[in-house]
Amino acid sequence: MKEIVPAPPAIVHNQQAAIQALFQQHVVPSYGRFELAFSHGQGSQLWDVNGKRYLDLGGGIAVCALGHANAEIADALSDQARRLVHVSNLYYHEPQGRLAQQLCQLIAPGRVFFCNSGAEANEGLYKLARKFGHDEGRFEIITAHNSFHGRTLAGIAATGQEKVKKGFEPMVAGFRHVPFNNLTAMRAALTPATAAILIEGIQGEGGITSATPEHLLGLRALCDEKKLLLLMDGVQCGHFRTGRFQSFQRILEGVPGGEKFLPDGIAMAKSLGGGFPIGAFWVREPFADLLGTGTHGTTYGGNLLGCAVALKILEVIGRDRLADHARHTGEFLKNEIARLAAAYPTVVQSARGLGFMLGLELAENIPAFAASDKAASIQFVNRLHEAGVLTIPSGNQIVRLLPALNLTRGEAEEGIRIIESVVAGLA
Ligand SMILES: *Cc1c(COP(=O)(O)O)cnc(C)c1O
Repeated sequence: MKEIVPAPPAIVHNQQAAIQALFQQHVVPSYGRFELAFSHGQGSQLWDVNGKRYLDLGGGIAVCALGHANAEIADALSDQARRLVHVSNLYYHEPQGRLAQQLCQLIAPGRVFFCNSGAEANEGLYKLARKFGHDEGRFEIITAHNSFHGRTLAGIAATGQEKVKKGFEPMVAGFRHVPFNNLTAMRAALTPATAAILIEGIQGEGGITSATPEHLLGLRALCDEKKLLLLMDGVQCGHFRTGRFQSFQRILEGVPGGEKFLPDGIAMAKSLGGGFPIGAFWVREPFADLLGTGTHGTTYGGNLLGCAVALKILEVIGRDRLADHARHTGEFLKNEIARLAAAYPTVVQSARGLGFMLGLELAENIPAFAASDKAASIQFVNRLHEAGVLTIPSGNQIVRLLPALNLTRGEAEEGIRIIESVVAGLA
């Protein structure tokens, strides 16, 4: 008689292999993916298909504002879905109007256009700039080296990184790039055809580099002088991640003249929908009517489901004071990374960023990484995976922490403990 044996763990492992096989056969291989397949989550905890638990400090790349499987988001989604999902932008509905009102209250008087992603939000800003300059024959938009603005054709033209453009030439015309935080270079780059300047308040994909207060104020003065639109890509650094709604509000805190600073347009997405795809751009009052009837649109933009979720997220962030929480817990995390840099200088070089938009800069030439030709950031992130923490690589040397705004202090402490154990193992 055959012995009855329990299912071997290999079958569990096969589930991951089966999922990967589906991707290998049927999904366009445009992403470099880690060898992890997730099945469910709760708050900042995620479980892979093998049942292993991870602490998520990446937040789905700054998207999951309230963490995973949030009950209030789920209720907002299902309540709205039972009432009305979609009617198109041929008609009015309350959630889109209320969300636009709340975003204006958080920034300044103006108007909001809704779309479905960050690239699309920026795309709207490019069209705004073109419309603004059109009658004078101005169309050029200047952006920064190391910027990231999305993967559409205009998005890769706007992005100040060669790697996203390669193979897709010719680029959409009218974009040029200058070094970030360099006002002299910006002024020198302007031509009679320039219509706008676009920057991130804190560069995300470029490695967590913050605009300086002087640069922001200088750009505003330059744009006023030359009659240019000052546009900001707040897709990653916005939505209270720095402790204020937009990163420029945080960067300019306490800076003389900072309270009066405003860009002319702001792109938003990522945390706006907490995982539901929604993007938006805000445009300042004097330019709010540039995009008149018939000039711009998208079928799903400002869809009832997306707006219901975004409204719920804003409500929870306000009620639970998550902006202050991100500021203070982020400060704790940054101080801890700085402590690691002091204690293990051969592994960690510095701590970068503000609030819950942080970068751990790795030291050059970490001996333990010499054997592989993979970027140090990827190798470090892989070690963190083994130890049960998710983070996001950025370039060769930076590892980003972009956690949910409701990451608890206890989870932040757990994250640092695990990161320190990995760093100590490499030192
Ligand atoms: C992610 C990102 C984008 C692109 O957003 P998608 O939703 O991926 O199109 C644009 N700008 C910045 C700063 C981003 O971080």
